[in-house]
Amino acid sequence: MSLLIVGSVAFDGIETPHGKRPRILGGAATYISLAASFFTDTGVVAVVGDDFGADDLAVFARRGVDTAGIERAAGKSFFWAGVYSADMNDRTTLDTQLNVFADFQPKIPSGYEGYTHLFLGNIDPGLQRSVQTQMQKAQVVGGDTMNFWISGQPEELKKTIAGWHMLLINDSEARQLSGEYNLQKAAAKIHAMGPQTLVIKRGEHGATLYRGGKVFAVPGFPLEIVRDPTGAGDCFAGGFMGYLASCGEVSEAALRRAMVYGSVMGSFCVEQFGTERLQSLTRAEVDERYRHFRELMHFD
Ligand code: AMP
Repeated sequence: MSLLIVGSVAFDGIETPHGKRPRILGGAATYISLAASFFTDTGVVAVVGDDFGADDLAVFARRGVDTAGIERAAGKSFFWAGVYSADMNDRTTLDTQLNVFADFQPKIPSGYEGYTHLFLGNIDPGLQRSVQTQMQKAQVVGGDTMNFWISGQPEELKKTIAGWHMLLINDSEARQLSGEYNLQKAAAKIHAMGPQTLVIKRGEHGATLYRGGKVFAVPGFPLEIVRDPTGAGDCFAGGFMGYLASCGEVSEAALRRAMVYGSVMGSFCVEQFGTERLQSLTRAEVDERYRHFRELMHFD
């Protein structure tokens, strides 16, 4: 089983109370694929500019991520910059330069039709649909979106997510998409839009799985130091989908384990800036934290 990810590969400028990085490797597909690579064969479809160096590609290669689907275009790579509040619960976007991402037309390289799982990262919903059309054999399709598309292209977005098995979004997006403040009611409305598996991410407060009338919640892992929250939600998605691809089933038990692996990967991501922690992480550390989660969540 294997996972193909489509989304942004970027450079980010990040400032948190713990430091500043003016230009580091980022992008949702970067975080998702690095996190997923701990569990399954992973490939990325994205576009980068001519400023994207061999060192940047090597970060993917060292984790065994297939980068044949990362197209190189003339111009600069997508750039995003943000600054976090003192408690890191709020983030202000300082700059978004789409650059080569503005004309991104995802093309699935030949040989990629065999990927069993597909995750459509946060890009234009029309493009997400065009990728899904090119990946007819994918058995499990999941995706992400954001406020920008929910308010900017609501009809297009609804057409797109109607074809997904899984949707992973944060709580404010779930409220906006459904028009319901109460998350139980929001989940019911989102199920009616198509995705029968819904994960609502709540940052440091964890995440909740809604499926078939059942609810399962995982906490955020209690960390002493959070240096940079960027990419935590994407790493959750990578751990969640990567684990599901590795075990090849979507039973209730597999989904619950996937929720824990998602939280594990999100919690590692925030320990250092950007992808730094994912680059030094080992599978043994992932398994150790999974065991910690079991202790954290066990009672009786
Ligand atoms: P997260 O912290 O999970 O929201 O993800 C942050 C990542 O999303 C950063 O690495 C950014 O490069 C990327 N990003 C920010 N804005 C966008 C956007 N409009 N489209 C795609 N990716 C984005």
